[in-house]
Amino acid sequence: MAMSLESGAGCGGHHSRAMSLESALEAIRGSVSAVIGNDEISPMEALGRVLAEDIRAPNDVPGHTNSAMDGYAFRHEDCAPTGKAALRIAGDSFAGHPFSGALQAGECVRIMTGAVVPDAADTVVMQEDVVQREGMIELSHMPRKGANIRLAGEDIQAGQAVLSAGRVLRPADLGMIASMGIASLKVRRRVKVAFFSTGDELRPVGEPLLTGQIHDSNRYTLHGMLCQAGMDTCDMGIVKDDPDALRDAFKTASESADVVITSGGVSVGEADYVTDMLAEMGNVSFWQIAMKPGRPLVYGRLGSAVFFGLPGNPVSVMATFMQVVRPALGVISGARYEEPLRFDARTEHAIRKKPGRMEFQRGILRRDGKGGFSVKTTGHQGSGILKSMSEANCFIVLPQDSGTVEAGTWVTVEPFPCV
Ligand code: AMP
Ligand code: MG
Repeated sequence: MAMSLESGAGCGGHHSRAMSLESALEAIRGSVSAVIGNDEISPMEALGRVLAEDIRAPNDVPGHTNSAMDGYAFRHEDCAPTGKAALRIAGDSFAGHPFSGALQAGECVRIMTGAVVPDAADTVVMQEDVVQREGMIELSHMPRKGANIRLAGEDIQAGQAVLSAGRVLRPADLGMIASMGIASLKVRRRVKVAFFSTGDELRPVGEPLLTGQIHDSNRYTLHGMLCQAGMDTCDMGIVKDDPDALRDAFKTASESADVVITSGGVSVGEADYVTDMLAEMGNVSFWQIAMKPGRPLVYGRLGSAVFFGLPGNPVSVMATFMQVVRPALGVISGARYEEPLRFDARTEHAIRKKPGRMEFQRGILRRDGKGGFSVKTTGHQGSGILKSMSEANCFIVLPQDSGTVEAGTWVTVEPFPCV
């Protein structure tokens, strides 16, 4: 993974101006590359994995023309347009047990859903539309020619390019791969992400708190978001605000992982050592992004690992992860870039904002009863109010230059990913 670490043009030292989210993303995308190495796995294990090769259909799906209904297969021309002619039942075709004979004029075959349609037949009539008597059927409704038949290859044609390298595999893809009979496929190896929290005030869950201490929640949200992103996670626990402890953790993390993510200690406080430590042991690319929440953010390189030092505030961790880290992990995992889904909704109330930073307020998106969507915020938008993320189902994305937005105006929303 080659990465150029410029320190000019607003992405340099500690006190340079904040850069826009857009240029931060561009810089990151241009400086990371996909992991090398594939795994050969079964489609059963492939959910969320990144396809490493194009998949072409080795055969037609379905492989044979079959019935879409329980009913009777027959030749359309054997019946009068009224369907009054009676047809003799020559045999049956069940799923997995095709009719072995040859269909003659004036005959039909009892057929079940998914069963092979005999060569000579071209139409299936639903069993609800026939009267059956003494080995014969009479149609009460004449279907159009070709009705209730699924043609061989109508889902996928042999040779067709079905999925291409870079695809993040979804449940439908797994089934589709299996439907083509493919038992193993090449996916990129998973990206290993080591992460830890920094802060002397942090205690693990299960331990009582002394005055001034808090439970470490960032590792839990990070773990959740990393799992959602299909990462191979390595939880390194809590590290003290202590240069020696940080040095050790940085070393271990960078030796074992492709990506290292920390939270806390990236501001300009007395005990904020993360940026300095990265400068000592690696490279700091930039450290301030004009977004709210989450202005201080360290990006760089630690040995061969890509490094993200996220802010400490719980909402900032989530917002910077989702907006900055997540797209980078996509590139590193070899996934084709996909724009986040964003659309407009009417805000139910005024949203206060000062121009200068792009804001990601936490929103609740809902149907407005008039065929569209409306959105409201989750209330208090402080970067320590993690409940605002829990209650929200979307970000309300307010552009850098925008000021306060009046009730009833259109705002951009970005739904959260599903679990
Ligand atoms: P910092 O960036 O280290 O100054 O932290 C900013 C705020 O986030 C402080 O109020 C911290 O106590 C809080 N914070 C930092 N790390 C965590 C964490 N792992 N879990 C919950 N809150 C945290
Ligand atoms: Mg701290």
